[in-house]
Amino acid sequence: MSREISRHKVLNAPFDINMRLVQGILSLGLGYSALEKFCMNMNLNIMSSRTFNFYKKKILDGHLFAANQMFCNIRKDVEEVYGSRNDNDIVDIGVSYDGSWLTRGHTSNIGIGCVIDLLTGFVIDFEVMSKRCEECQQTKLALDEDTAEFHFWYEGHRDFCSITCRVIWLDGSQSRNKIVGKT
Ligand SMILES: [Zn+2]
Repeated sequence: MSREISRHKVLNAPFDINMRLVQGILSLGLGYSALEKFCMNMNLNIMSSRTFNFYKKKILDGHLFAANQMFCNIRKDVEEVYGSRNDNDIVDIGVSYDGSWLTRGHTSNIGIGCVIDLLTGFVIDFEVMSKRCEECQQTKLALDEDTAEFHFWYEGHRDFCSITCRVIWLDGSQSRNKIVGKT
């Protein structure tokens, strides 16, 4: 039997081997169906999709927590480099901006924009954005985009939509590279 991650006996504490298995599948860009095929070929018992999603959420939470901690430390270091000793100081810094996409080939729907401090080279902020909103897609199918019902629904949804309300998508005419910029 695999070792529990938590040293304390807690109900539903994740097992190390299961967590590593899910993390491995996710790091390959795969999902539950890939795990199903892997387990079938290895003649292993498979966890349920609910359990898979439970581990997935735990991994995501862990990554977000670690990223936030790292950003706090990096921002503190950058402030110190610019001579700030007080957290409440407003510091003038020089930054550049860069963006990238999840996949190559100008077909990706997910992009990331990064703010980079010029002096240290650290990324001090980022935003992941999607060109696609699942809610919009589903509602367009259900209501039809040109109808008054859809426009009425969209007015209520606009502030929560993950596509346009919070970002500008800029097309570079020469390189066709796209970047994400906050409004
Ligand atoms: Zn939307």
